[in-house]
Amino acid sequence: MNIALIAHDKKKELMVQFCIAYCGILSRHNLCATGTTGKLVAEATGLNIQFYLSGSQGGDEQIASRIACDEIDLLLFFRDPITPKPHEPKETTLLRLCDVHNVPVATNIATAEALIHALSRGDLDWRNLVNPTF
Ligand code: PGA
Repeated sequence: MNIALIAHDKKKELMVQFCIAYCGILSRHNLCATGTTGKLVAEATGLNIQFYLSGSQGGDEQIASRIACDEIDLLLFFRDPITPKPHEPKETTLLRLCDVHNVPVATNIATAEALIHALSRGDLDWRNLVNPTF
């Protein structure tokens, strides 16, 4: 499975802790991330991560384009819902593309926990089917 990681600044420590906790599961999959999120997670866990640009430099859009190409199977996107950001339209685009392409997406740690357990049980293996129809 191809898993993408994105965390806003105030959620980066949470993402790092999440990835430390689930390092064993995550290490069995292909990981990619926006620049800063990826570097922090890689430094803390040793996980092999493909880095895209920093979010402010277009990293979110790079991940969005992979979602549009059906190349991402799970998105963990820890958003900061409190701090106003200039990135709002990018978030809408990412989440819209997940809906268009039926990509499971977690925007908070509670959903991420549920999805990571589903991933470890194989509940998301339907993503490997060719052209699933819904
Ligand atoms: P970053 O990007 O991981 O490079 O900080 C995430 C974001 O869009 O804020």
